[in-house]
Formats: sequence, structure tokens, C-alpha cells
Amino acid sequence: MSADAATESFTFQAEVSKLLDLMIHSLYREKDIFLRELISNASDACDKLRYAALTESTLLADDPDLKVMIELNKGSRTITVTDNGIGMSRAELIENLGTIARSGTEAFVKSLTEGKADPVSLIGQFGVGFYSIFMVADRVDVVTRRAGEAEGWRWQSDGTGTFTITPEEEARRGAAITLHLRDDASEYLDADRIRQIVRTYSDHIALPIKLMGESKAGSETLNSAAALWTRPRSEITDEKAKEFYHHVAHMAGDPWLTIHLRAEGRMEYAALLFVPDRRPFDLFEPQRRHRVKLYVKRVFITDDCEGLLPRYLRFMRGVVDSSDLPLNISRETLQNNPLLAKIRSGLVKRVIGDLDKKAADATSDYAAFWGNFGAVLKEGMYEDSENRAALIKLARFQTLNGKPGEWHSLDDYVGRMREGQTAIYYITGDSPEALRKSPQIEGFRARGLDVLLMSDAIDHFWLPTVGEHSGKPFRSVTQGSADLDAIPPLDGDKAGEAEATPQNELDKLIALVKLSLGDQVKDVRTSARLTDSAVCLIADAGDIDMHLERLLRSQQRDVTAQKRILELNPRHKLIRSLAHLVGQAGASQTLEDAAHLLFDQARLMEGEPLEDANAFARRLSDVLVRAFEARAA
Ligand code: ADP
Repeated sequence: MSADAATESFTFQAEVSKLLDLMIHSLYREKDIFLRELISNASDACDKLRYAALTESTLLADDPDLKVMIELNKGSRTITVTDNGIGMSRAELIENLGTIARSGTEAFVKSLTEGKADPVSLIGQFGVGFYSIFMVADRVDVVTRRAGEAEGWRWQSDGTGTFTITPEEEARRGAAITLHLRDDASEYLDADRIRQIVRTYSDHIALPIKLMGESKAGSETLNSAAALWTRPRSEITDEKAKEFYHHVAHMAGDPWLTIHLRAEGRMEYAALLFVPDRRPFDLFEPQRRHRVKLYVKRVFITDDCEGLLPRYLRFMRGVVDSSDLPLNISRETLQNNPLLAKIRSGLVKRVIGDLDKKAADATSDYAAFWGNFGAVLKEGMYEDSENRAALIKLARFQTLNGKPGEWHSLDDYVGRMREGQTAIYYITGDSPEALRKSPQIEGFRARGLDVLLMSDAIDHFWLPTVGEHSGKPFRSVTQGSADLDAIPPLDGDKAGEAEATPQNELDKLIALVKLSLGDQVKDVRTSARLTDSAVCLIADAGDIDMHLERLLRSQQRDVTAQKRILELNPRHKLIRSLAHLVGQAGASQTLEDAAHLLFDQARLMEGEPLEDANAFARRLSDVLVRAFEARAA
């Protein structure tokens, strides 16, 4: 057959070859999953055909009962999984069984090369299940005919770099995948073994999965063959839900939360939704697509229905099945259907409600969820005015007074505000760890005032939208005046005891620093924010916060650099000494250098690049030289 003149050879995409190599040499014990993947693909293929037949009924007419068949042949040591679904054209064979879907390739190659390549989790995450057959087979034949097309094809490969495609007259609609089993995979010729695997992994599949009898006389159906989400909740065991999750979500791991919902009455729909226990790799892709599948009256319609769920719930996986939407609806007009908006609103309420319960009943478990998806859910605080209040209740934050990794709600924060404190303080930056070291929060720490540590880009957007909580406005500690004078430092705080610089000397120093820095800064002033550091930078009230400016710049957005306010700590020894020097003979060069060094130092602490690194180095060494000479003298 392979000597056929019509046979063409192809090379697998490099990533696929790598993956196949991994599969072939895999010592992974759970090889059984190859069957789950084949059945899952067969079921998807039948779903696609059913959808196509909505507009072109002839596609289904000649063989209307969709099913999956498994045939074991001990003589030829083969197992064949056959479906009568949509099948593949020649071009689709090359694309689907020779490459990896584009969206995942980059992330996929990354995890392959990072050596985290556990085959089973790769399969789960990246939808490369077909290739798992090479864990058990040393040769594979795929005979297929695309529904509505006249020609069929045979795809053949031994999984080592190349595959061939040959015309195949005998091919029937759908796909028949024959695995020539490896010597160490004889167990899959045993009918009992197959029964057990199908019941374990594929019971939830909504099509009959049949095992052909040895005599070819009859067949037995191995699964319950009813859509899992339509069954009463008591029948949806954790095990079944988990297997369905693997099938529908293409995710390794287990669902963190399972939501089964059946709306009856004015609107009828069922949903089986999952929150994963880990981040899907495409969570932060710019499209922000959700992956929940929409069915209408058990017929799969699309997994790309934007209006079904808001983007801030895009980490959810699962299915929604509506009895009210028209079956002949096109994917395009679906978007504007008012019923869809109602379903969406019902789903959102339910998901938020269930998350709220988890937050109340299982605090540490909820922290894990928040760590994975908090940054996504917060987008809703910005976008979804209808559910904003409920989402704010779900939000958790790390705080200055809390332990690293501990999460607190805004109500917690407000409940622990100090007497006289009128605002909810926050600081934005790259990570909570880095933020804890910021100079701007020193004065807050000394006063026992808690500060929310915000490190998600989205924080810059929801904060101004939400504005306040429990009547307390949000206030950035790196912006505007600190207004800390009303609140005394905690007892025993040493910073308060340090001697302040005399006001007249301080005024002169400030005037001199202003003069030296010119229009590099917006202003120079004293600070109540600082206890340990000599200086820090602050954004003027109404100016864009410093972290946001950096963030926008890192995204190549057009943003004009804003001038900042340099704040000096009047209780810091360096400031005191400098202020004392002002007006003394021979000190002007040192003071000029010091003014620039203070500014550069503040920029460095902010994570800003130096404007002139050479000038910085020259000034620093000049100042040091003078200091050493003074000592030696
Ligand atoms: P996934 O199913 O996650 O997309 P796979 O590697 O399992 O990834 O399959 C790759 C593609 O091959 C599928 O997306 C589908 O387009 C095609 N395919 C696999 N099996 C079949 C089948 N039985 N019938 C039709 N197409 C199939």
C-alpha cells in the first residue's frame, strides 16, 4: 500500500516530532489515557457533524446514528476506534495530525524545552491528545472521509518524523483509527481491560461507545451515553465530573470548583461549569477568550460564543446547554440574541454566589483560587457595574501589616483602620515583596497604618472606577500629600525621636536642591512619609502614578514622562548634615553634587533608569574623594 504511486510523504512539524519522541520513550504508567483521547476526539467529531447538519441535513442522512466503535483484533494485534463524525479532508489531515494548533505552540515548546514535559499534563494543557497513541502503538493508520466529500484518505505513521497520505477508496464518513500495538501493550487487546478504561474515563460521553464482539456478530454499549449535564445532580459523582472536566477543559489536574446548574421555568438551560485548580496557559492572551461550550438542545454549537460569559470569567471551563435558543441560529447572530444575555446574567450570578460561599467556608482553599485567578476576576470590578459590589466582596489583597502570602478583604482592612484614618491606603508596583521595601510606606508602617499592596496591572483601572469602599476613599501612598500629621507614630517608634533639621536650614537646602535640579523635578519638599530613607519620589495629585507610567511604557504605549516631586526626610542624618552645610564656604560643589545624587537615588529606588549614568558615577566618586580627603586632613 505504501508503495502506491499516489502515496505522499510529509515531515511532522518539529514540535510534533519532539512530542512524538517523548511519547514513544515515555515510561509513563497511565498509558490508558490514549483511549480516552481517541474517544474524546471521536465525540468532538460527531458534535461537529451534528452542527454542520443543522444547515445541510444531507451530511447526516445516510448514516444518522452517531456513535463510536471499538474493535479488538488479537490476530493482527490491533485496536481500531471508529466514529461516523465529520472526518477529515486531506488538507485537514496534514494540518491536524502533523502540526500543533497555533495558539498553543509557543507555550507548548516552552514547557517541552523547560523539561517540565510530563506527557499527560502536556496532553491535557495543549490539546495534543491524538499523539498519545504512540505511547502504545508502533504504527498507526487513520482512514477517514470528510462528510460531504467523495474522496477518502489513509494517513500512516510510525511516529518517527514522517507520515504518509494515500487515497483510500474504502473510507467511510468519519474516521477509523487503527493502532498496531507495541509488544508491551498487549493488555489493550483484552475486552475486559477496554470495558474498564471506557467506564473510568469516558462514561460521560454523550454518544454510545460500542465494543464489537469477537465474532463481529453484535456489539455492547459500554457507557451511559447521556449528556452528563442533563442528569440529576445526585448522578454527577465527583469522579464523573472530573473525567468530564478533562474532556471538556483539556486541562490536567482536577476542578477546584464544580457548578451544576439547571434553570427551569421562564428560561430553561443547564450548565456544568468548572473552575480549574491551575492557570490555563492562555489566561493572559490579549483576546481574553473564554472556553465554555454552548450547546442548544444537546447539539454542540460553538466554543467561541463571546456573549455567553464575561471576559473576567474566562478561566471557567464547561458547557452550557440551552433549550430556548433556536437550533438553526448562526454563530454570528447568536451574539445579539437577548436570551443569551439572560443566560449570561444567570450564570454570572451563580458563579459569583458559589465563589462567595467558598470564600466564607474555605478560606485557605479560596486563597489558592485567588492566587490563580484574582487578577482576572478584578477585571470585573472595572468592567461589570452590575456585579461590581459582589466582585469587590470577593477581592483579596496582601497588605503591609499582613504576612507575605496572606490575603485580606477590603472589609477586613476597613475594620482594622486606625482612629483618625480617613482613607484606604494602597501602593502599586511589580510585586508585594518589592512593595514592602518601598520608601514611601515607611511613615505608614511607623504609624501602624495598613497599606494594600497592589501588583496587578488591572489595579490601576478598577481603583479609580470604584473610588471608595465603605465611604473611605482609596489613596495612593505614592501620590499627592501624605496627610499623616493627624496620626501619631506608634509608641516606641524611634523615627519620631530623631532630631529634625532646623527649619531655616531645611528651607535653604530645599531652595538649593530645587535650583540644582531645575525642571527635572516638579517640586522639592519635606516628607512625613519617610522614616529610614533620605528621599523618595512622589507623583503630584492628579498626575499619573509612577508605576502606571512604567507599566504603560513597558507596553510600548505613548506616554509622556511626568515630572515628579522629590521629598526629603527632615529627620535623616544626611539631610541634616547637608542642610547644615548650606552657606558654608567651599561647600557649594558638594551640595550641587548631593542634590543630583539624592534625585538619582530616589529614581533608582523607584526602579527608574538613571538619566545620565556617567554623571551619576562622576558625582558619586567626587563626593567620596572629598569625604576621604576631609578624613585624612
Ligand atoms: P485536540 O483534540 O485537543 O484538538 P488532538 O491532537 O487530539 O487535539 O487532535 C488534533 C485534531 O485532529 C483535532 O482538533 C481534530 O481537528 C482532528 N481529529 C482528531 N481526531 C479526529 C476524528 N476522529 N475525527 C475528525 N477529526 C479528528
